Amino acid sequence: MPLTDQVALVTGGAQGIGREIALVLAKAGADLALFDIKADTLERTVQELRALGRRAEGFVVDVTDGKQVDEGVVKVLDKLGRLDILINNAGITKDGLIVRMDDAQWDRVLAINLTGAFLCTRAAARVMLRQRRGRVVSIASIVGLIGNPGQANYAASKAGVIGLTKAVAKELASRGVTCNAVAPGFIKTEMTEALPEAAKQRLQNAIPMGTLGEPHDVAQAVLFLVSDAARYITGQVLVVDGGLAM
Ligand code: NAD
Repeated sequence: MPLTDQVALVTGGAQGIGREIALVLAKAGADLALFDIKADTLERTVQELRALGRRAEGFVVDVTDGKQVDEGVVKVLDKLGRLDILINNAGITKDGLIVRMDDAQWDRVLAINLTGAFLCTRAAARVMLRQRRGRVVSIASIVGLIGNPGQANYAASKAGVIGLTKAVAKELASRGVTCNAVAPGFIKTEMTEALPEAAKQRLQNAIPMGTLGEPHDVAQAVLFLVSDAARYITGQVLVVDGGLAM
């Protein structure tokens, strides 16, 4: 069990990719803390994690609120004793062409996807620096690398997450803390369920491996980056996209 006695915090961990990451880290031995705004779904996932024999705690925390994030991290330490791994996964889309995108659409996506990652990384880094050990992995997107029409806000937020990752990697490298990003392509979740059938078909045809990815594919990449196998890797973006963004 490579992650025995480690505590991992997954934001947006109630469902989708975050839930799968939490399950994979728990199966690797970690105890889990989840931040999410969906209380019911959060509770269900916490029960699933406990059923695996791990300690697990869910906290209703909105990652855009610095006070809630800081207090949430204090509660994680209180309940689980330490914090070794942070996975910045909470994220949303609010798509629209640039000429029709309103300020609220822009602000909300940036607030959750980028400011949320900043607030959680800052709070976790303070703990990890004291421990002189830690792993931060942020879920970016290939859209942050190559852009996508109708997603100026989302692409900017995910490119921002990659910049944040590299800056923090350089700041914390000498203190035993690594910071990396995983950039998924198109993964089967509620987020991609919302796409029209014709768009999904077009996408599938464009992916060299011929299919959308599964949340498990992203979770396996995260597991690698938080494990000792990746101890000498920091500031990197690991693309998990079936070859789409080559
Ligand atoms: P999802 O909508 O299924 O799950 C997102 C989770 O984040 C939900 O549980 C939601 O309640 C939570 N959340 C939303 N706002 C929050 C907030 N303010 N504070 C705390 N939690 C909040 O989405 P998903 O498809 O599982 O995506 C997870 C991550 O992966 C996102 O960052 C997304 O951008 C990224 N991603 C997804 C895909 C894909 O194809 N699904 C591709 C690339 C990247």
